[in-house]
Amino acid sequence: MNRVPTVADVIVVGAGCAGLCAAVEAAERGLRVIVCEKRGTSLQSSTAASGGYFAFIDTDLQRRDRIVDSDETFRQDMERSGKGRSDPALVDAYLANQLDTYYWLQEHGVTFWDVDIGIGMNVPRCHATDSQRLLEVLTRSARRLGISICYNFPVGDVERDGSGFKVGGPDGIILRAERAIIFASGGFSRNPAMLGRFVPGLERLRIVDGGLGCMGDGIVMAEKLGAALSSMECVKPNFYSYALRDGTKEKMDRFHHDTPVGMVYHLGGILVTSKAERYVREDMNAKDIALVTLKLPDVMAWGIFDETVRQRALKEKTIYINPAALAKCVSADTFAELATRAGLPVDAFVRTVEQYNADCAAGAPDKMGRVHETALLGRPFALNTPPFYAFPTAPNQATTFGGVRVNPQTQILDAQGNALPGLYACGEIVGGFHGLNFVTGTALAQAAIFGRTAAKTIAHSSAGGA
Ligand SMILES: Cc1cc2nc3c(=O)[nH]c(=O)nc-3n(C[C@H](O)[C@H](O)[C@H](O)COP(=O)(O)OP(=O)(O)OC[C@H]3O[C@@H](n4cnc5c(N)ncnc54)[C@H](O)[C@@H]3O)c2cc1C
Repeated sequence: MNRVPTVADVIVVGAGCAGLCAAVEAAERGLRVIVCEKRGTSLQSSTAASGGYFAFIDTDLQRRDRIVDSDETFRQDMERSGKGRSDPALVDAYLANQLDTYYWLQEHGVTFWDVDIGIGMNVPRCHATDSQRLLEVLTRSARRLGISICYNFPVGDVERDGSGFKVGGPDGIILRAERAIIFASGGFSRNPAMLGRFVPGLERLRIVDGGLGCMGDGIVMAEKLGAALSSMECVKPNFYSYALRDGTKEKMDRFHHDTPVGMVYHLGGILVTSKAERYVREDMNAKDIALVTLKLPDVMAWGIFDETVRQRALKEKTIYINPAALAKCVSADTFAELATRAGLPVDAFVRTVEQYNADCAAGAPDKMGRVHETALLGRPFALNTPPFYAFPTAPNQATTFGGVRVNPQTQILDAQGNALPGLYACGEIVGGFHGLNFVTGTALAQAAIFGRTAAKTIAHSSAGGA
């Protein structure tokens, strides 16, 4: 810790998108800032792992592509996607500051190059950037502004100390924040106990995902300081069809394991258990399929598809099955051979696929009730074009939507709705913004927007931050 300051106006916990945006904005407003980051780098955060999509409205890129978007359309998307559970006051706070944040990020050197459509939105508004480069750019700005970033500094405890806070780190190091703490420590997708506490069964997930530091530390610390929690049950696993690396045995960490095979079950493929039986309607949405799969004894399934599905997937932009993904599948020209190679019970597997194919060909009701390929689209068809493919897969947990309760100024609230003086939160640690589901791009953009809002609120407030 030589020559590193131990006292600041503001201490930021976490150096992902939220923490770095908060820190840079605070320093730009003349505040002394220390950032504490648990890991040795920001490049192990959820921000770094993310797809780099930011949801912004009425930007130059949207206008270039003649995309008509509005605050009202965004509100409707959030309301629908969050199933009425996203907090309208937080959505308004996002809208009030989003466009300014889009240009602020660019002033710091972030480049957005395209606008795509994503999950839960009516019009394309996902602004694509390289999330790792974004972290590098923000870190450079932070350094230029004289911000100290302490890596390998897991904050273990935050205590009130007069009008400020004592922040406990590794090896007994204590830092002091004279005005405020900004919790920007991300979600809890890697904390099975916390997942299971709020959504029983989620502790059984076999594919862990999200930034390596996402253990919910900030939520625990803020709760001790009096914070109320919001929407903790709003956490759903997903089913992106990552292939379990080690067949059917251990847990897998998706962080170092990029390409999913793809959601082939939404293109005509099927899902079977390790006993080779179908167990779910494959036309349900991915999150609901994940919840059903979580109840299976081994919490995993086998994705099965044929060459027709593969060819269709190659044409579909959002479904992968590129050569790297295909290498994770076993393939064969007959169902019996495929089952043997996958280690599935051969007779049961052949019976299951032949029954499925016969029902599709005859137009008979599907045994599991499947009506479509996906959602309300397409009719299921027989899987009869070799080669056939199989891969072991399981639900994954990338992000969590529950966390500490905040007001539109990002002040942390207690159970009565009172702001806790000097305590702020931004990014994935915030509960109640998304509601039950997430509109692509709103998590990263919220991290940046609310990070800046926290800094602005502190700068405008008197010492003590209330
Ligand atoms: C695979 C994947 C793809 C995604 N794609 C998108 C997308 O395209 N668009 C989108 O909007 N969202 C996406 N998300 C979600 C989005 O990335 C996150 O919600 C967002 O990055 C959260 O930012 P954050 O700064 O709050 O948290 P993080 O980026 O997770 O940063 C939190 C930091 O806090 C640190 N930390 C934790 N505890 C402590 C502690 N005790 N002391 C000090 N430091 C601590 C962590 O190590 C971490 O570096 C994706 C998520 C994943 C996992």
